Amino acid sequence: MTTISQQPIPAPLDGAPATTPGVLDFGPARGLVCRECGAEFELGAAYSCAECFGPLEVKYDFGAVSRERIEAGPLSLWRYSDLLPVPSNAANKLNLAPGCTKLIKADNLARELGMRSLWIKDDSGNPTHSFKDRVVAVAQAAARELGLGTLSCASTGNLAHAVAAAAARGGMKSVVIVPQDLEDGKIVSAAAYGGVLLAIEGNYDAVNRLCSELIGEELTADWGFVNVNLRPYYAEGSKTVGYEIAEQLGWRLPQQVVVPVASGALLVKVDKAWRELVATGLVESTDYRVFGAQATGCSPVAQAFEAGHDVVRPVKPDTIAKSLAIGNPADGPYALDVVRRTGGSFGSVSDEEIVEGIHLLARTEGVFAETAGGVVIATLQQQLASGTIDPDQETVILNTGDGLKTLDAIIGQVGPTATIPPDVAAVREALA
Ligand SMILES: *Cc1c(COP(=O)(O)O)cnc(C)c1O
Ligand SMILES: [Zn+2]
Repeated sequence: MTTISQQPIPAPLDGAPATTPGVLDFGPARGLVCRECGAEFELGAAYSCAECFGPLEVKYDFGAVSRERIEAGPLSLWRYSDLLPVPSNAANKLNLAPGCTKLIKADNLARELGMRSLWIKDDSGNPTHSFKDRVVAVAQAAARELGLGTLSCASTGNLAHAVAAAAARGGMKSVVIVPQDLEDGKIVSAAAYGGVLLAIEGNYDAVNRLCSELIGEELTADWGFVNVNLRPYYAEGSKTVGYEIAEQLGWRLPQQVVVPVASGALLVKVDKAWRELVATGLVESTDYRVFGAQATGCSPVAQAFEAGHDVVRPVKPDTIAKSLAIGNPADGPYALDVVRRTGGSFGSVSDEEIVEGIHLLARTEGVFAETAGGVVIATLQQQLASGTIDPDQETVILNTGDGLKTLDAIIGQVGPTATIPPDVAAVREALA
């Protein structure tokens, strides 16, 4: 297996001066552009188009990028700074330095599923055990550049954990806002860092609405909501999953990828990352198909795909896959575009199938995934059964979070094989 080369991580330069005082440095980023009407805006804490209210995304002018420059970079997502909206010295500012997670050759699982070549991109290996550390790192760099001192977010759990930890490490304040009904593991892990955690009486969509209302209030003048007013930067952090997969495969793209979908940003950005690698000449252009995975209890994008709709009708989530429980996904329509353009598909799976998926992955590969990983495994099985995923094509699946944070989902379904007295006869009997 090709691994990311082991380069020393540069020592943090505490108190390193801002690049040039008063001049914003977002590396290769040149502005924000509306994804709907194409109107362009200056880089700043903006996320919706002043003309049409469409979502904004970062526009770039990529300079000199090369495999050599990336390979010589730090062993974190900052090795891709030439392709991100961050100053080139972002790695040197105090941060959690996430990324460079393992790409595991999953031969046992492949054998079990009758597949030829299967890889797991295991993002549970990030500092706070989910892929959210990537998006937060890029949003945190943007917050610093914009002079914002408080990191905030609307979260289904993992993001709150990532924001609270990144703020603590970076010497910033944090205010994270979550629905009150999250798993204990998610609430406790987010609260452990000493920032403010607000549990809201309502679901994620209510939390998200509240955050939109808070923006513009005097109270939040110093706050960067990583997934609201810093969303264009935040979302770009997801691209690093795509970059790493390509680099770890030896600078090439797989033929199929299965991505869990909450807001849809991760799916959209994996595709964007691969198109950028092709456009900048870092990888050869080869065909790939993108598959989206949702829980049936919150599957607005999968339903729209099934029905052939371009709009995503909001749903009320009811699933154990709480990290994916976004009923009104911001990037839903763009995720549909990517899946349709590449010839992929969407699957949705039941809570029982999710739990079975978690077991299957743990049993075959020794990877204990959170519910989102169970959604991906079950969707892979479903799409293999229906023939949409080809077992002979090289496939990468994403595990985006750690099972230790969603123990609630499987407590009661797994436990001791037997509870016995400490004697040999009892062991023999228990194993009989
Ligand atoms: C946030 C999250 C995702 C996907 O997020 P998007 O909003 O679709 O970008 C996937 N898995 C886990 C565990 C997450 O926390
Ligand atoms: Zn617009």
